[in-house]
Amino acid sequence: MPGIYIHIPFCRQACHYCNFHFSVSQKRRPEFVQALKKEISLQKDFLKTGNKGKVLLDTLYFGGGTPSLLEISELNEILSELFKFYELSPDTEVTLEANPDDLSAEKLAVLRDTPVNRLSIGIQSFYEADLKYMNRSHNAEQAEKVLHDAKKAGFKNITADLIYGTPGMSDKQWIENIMKLITRDIPHISAYSLTVEKKTALEVFIRKGKAAPVDEEQSARQFEILCEITTKYGYEHYEISNFGKPGFFSRHNLSYWSGVPYLGLGPSAHSYSDGLRRWNVANTCAYIDKLQNGQLPPFEQEHLDKDQQYNEYVMTALRTMWGVEKKLVKNRFGEDYFNRMKQSAGKHLNSGMLEETQSHLKITQKGRFFADGIASDLFI
Ligand code: SF4
Repeated sequence: MPGIYIHIPFCRQACHYCNFHFSVSQKRRPEFVQALKKEISLQKDFLKTGNKGKVLLDTLYFGGGTPSLLEISELNEILSELFKFYELSPDTEVTLEANPDDLSAEKLAVLRDTPVNRLSIGIQSFYEADLKYMNRSHNAEQAEKVLHDAKKAGFKNITADLIYGTPGMSDKQWIENIMKLITRDIPHISAYSLTVEKKTALEVFIRKGKAAPVDEEQSARQFEILCEITTKYGYEHYEISNFGKPGFFSRHNLSYWSGVPYLGLGPSAHSYSDGLRRWNVANTCAYIDKLQNGQLPPFEQEHLDKDQQYNEYVMTALRTMWGVEKKLVKNRFGEDYFNRMKQSAGKHLNSGMLEETQSHLKITQKGRFFADGIASDLFI
């Protein structure tokens, strides 16, 4: 079953490391909501498979930006428009990305009455110094409070984001960050190494000596700590950056990784269906202006050829705990691709970064931190 991703391109303030598409000005938010509704109706056939009637969604994901900045009335307005064309089952996973400073106990109580049944909360750290280094809009107290309030409001399916490798964060503090989620019984953790992306404020600050640089060794060590602790407490390390208790893996991400069609709505959102990938313009004003004229926003698209589809499969599959399915490579791409993959895998099998089972090729514990580099060595 297909899914929908909705990009809400507004944030309260700019995190120094962020290279997503967002604006800190909220001025055009009301116009954006109307434009988004227009895009929903113009794109109503993208996921249609020839069947008449509404399309049943497996997952619906509000990402950003910061979707929790939306008023509940705005969220409901968007959902009402979606429900003209799509259906949710009681089992549909409906995720809302949220920042701790947006989720008051009152807002959480009202949110519980919407179809949102999964919260993805951007905690990043429980330490004030880390939050300041990243220029997050919330503070340590809000990070602590939101988890308690979300559970009290009745949300059971909660995932929290953490960032490791932040300069100045000791291993002891990192362990405490992880343990705060575990002891609060948060069933899913997404954890990312702090990376310095081009054209971000963090890159400039580090270049000018105004912020401490990121230490790769610290990141690698803290990743190992994370893997050890989460395994000890019953989380499955099912994807390089994702750790979930059984029954709480992100269905939205799993369907991305397995090639299920999805429609992306909002500026910069990506869509995929049957080898076709398209992405909307990453410019909120251009997006709104076009839709106000009743036209689709500017987008680009590409048809993935066989090599690209193979590379994409290897990249995403190797990042998961299941790895690359050998039979699938043979059947879908052919013997030639399979043999080339085996040949390229040789050096990583010898160095213990990859292991081969009867059915799969997968990353070992030793290779986990280098998954992307190993995958690119297997590319055609
Ligand atoms: S809240 Fe998220 S999207 Fe917004 S600036 Fe921070 S990291 Fe980027």
